[in-house]
This record gives sequence, structure tokens and C-alpha cells, in this order.
Amino acid sequence: MKYVILDLEWDTVYYPPQKRFVNQILQIGAVKLDENFNKLDTLELNIKSQISKKVSKRFTDITGITTEDMLSGIPLYEAVEKYNTFVKDTQVAMTWSDTDLYTILDNQKVLLKEKVTFSFDKYLDLQKLVQGEMQRKGYESKNQVSLESAAQFFKIDTKKFEFHTALDDSLVCGELLKATFNKDRFNELLKDTKNPEFFARLRFKARPISNIKDEAIDKKHLEFRCPECNAQAKNVSKWKYHNRWFSANFKCAHCGFKFNGRVSFKRTYDEVLVKRRICEYRVKKNDMQSMSKEVQLTSNRN
Ligand SMILES: [Zn+2]
Repeated sequence: MKYVILDLEWDTVYYPPQKRFVNQILQIGAVKLDENFNKLDTLELNIKSQISKKVSKRFTDITGITTEDMLSGIPLYEAVEKYNTFVKDTQVAMTWSDTDLYTILDNQKVLLKEKVTFSFDKYLDLQKLVQGEMQRKGYESKNQVSLESAAQFFKIDTKKFEFHTALDDSLVCGELLKATFNKDRFNELLKDTKNPEFFARLRFKARPISNIKDEAIDKKHLEFRCPECNAQAKNVSKWKYHNRWFSANFKCAHCGFKFNGRVSFKRTYDEVLVKRRICEYRVKKNDMQSMSKEVQLTSNRN
């Protein structure tokens, strides 16, 4: 079994043909590891932009990559081919969070027209693995942990590394993998990129549901209990939709308390995320802004 850890540096530039910003990959770094996570080989490639003649100051400040470095780089398709040759004898590819995968998908589509694609077999999000181990050891934050913080947490000596350069980031990832490897959790998090669902999930864009009759809405989320006495409340108005929230007035069947129940739904690939609020009863019609004093905020997963 051989592993590869891939890291990308990209610069955000305006891409006129699509009238939007694109995160163009300007550096690829990778380290190949044996089954004991010893370093076998490394790869570092600078890529010449096909969109812009210079890199942004912010990009240089973060990565140390200058416009000269970029201009002396190779075309993206060539870099991807070199990467694919490099990873031929590996079975698992890893990146720090799946953010790099979104950038890869977009670059393949927009800049490479899908003619050349990064080769993937099995994939693992190393950030998930490492953060899971950190949580077991008492780390509490649910926010995605940075590579620097994870390295600090596991007391990895990072003096010899430059963070935010592709190769060094992948080397730090390698050290973290060695420090945190857990066979069961590793296998649990391993994904097969040959399964069409893998990329379908990545491409899926989460969206709010704006139609109250949408079949994905579980009707139980449209029912509210009285915040005063917890008895079932009766819906006494039509549902209105504004700014991603449905709202309706409710009246408690037991104590008569009136309130405004609000609920929002977000469709993700796997589930419908539900947020609910109870606000003050709305007297005026068509005035969504008024009386929005929040009394309670709950979040449920469907
Ligand atoms: Zn009540």
C-alpha cells in the first residue's frame, strides 16, 4: 500500500469568459509515503496561469510564490499529467479537507475542459481523520481545524516547514498522518472515488427550499408547540416565505398564547437541514421585519 498526500495553492482571479472568479491552481505539491508513512518521493510543480499575467499580492504574501515563479511554471494540463504519473503506484490519495477537491473539479471543467483530469482511486480527507483524533483527545471546537493548529496540537516540529507552500503542507500532513493513524477510523473515512456518488456529492450545491409543498419537507416541522405551556398550537395563518424562512402565526389550543412560528429548510446531498424559531405574534400582514424578537432558537436534523 502506498499513499499520496496532495496539496494545492491557488490564486483567485476574474475569469472573463464566465464572468466570475476562479480559484486557479498555481502550485501542486505531493508526497508519496510507504505503508509505514515513510517518505518515498516528493513532487512540486509551479503552474503558469492561462488567465492572468501576474499573481495577486495576497497570493504572494501567503505562499511566497511570485509572478516570476508563476510565469516560469508549466501549463496546468502538463502538471496534472506529471501528477498522474507520480501517483500511478499509489492506492490512496489524501488532502487536508476536501476544499482542494472542489478547486480540482472546477479547474478541470473550466481550464482543462475535462480533457485532462487528476487521477484518483481511493480518497481520504485527512483533516477529518486528524480532527477526529484531536476531538478524542479533548479538542472541542467544531470548526475546521487549520493544518498549523493540528500540527501544534500533536507537537509536530514544524520549524523546517513553510506553511502554505504545497509541498511543505503535504509533508506536514504526512507527519500528522503518522502521529494520528488509526486503522479502523482510516478505513471508515476512506472513500472510493470510482463510485459515481463520490463526485456527485461534491458537485451538489446545497439550496434552501422555498416551496412549502416541496416533498422533501417533513410536515412535522410545520407543527409547533406552545412556548408557554408546551401544548400543541394551532396554525392560524397561511405560511409566508421570506428571506429563506417560512413563517406562520400560531395560537395555543390550551392557554391561548399567540406566537409566530418560523422554519427554514436547506436541501443538502444527504439530508434536509431544518432550523426553527419562535417569534412574537405578527399582527400586521406583509410585514416580515416587524416583531422579529427571537424567543427561542432550535435546530433539528431531519
Ligand atoms: Zn400554551
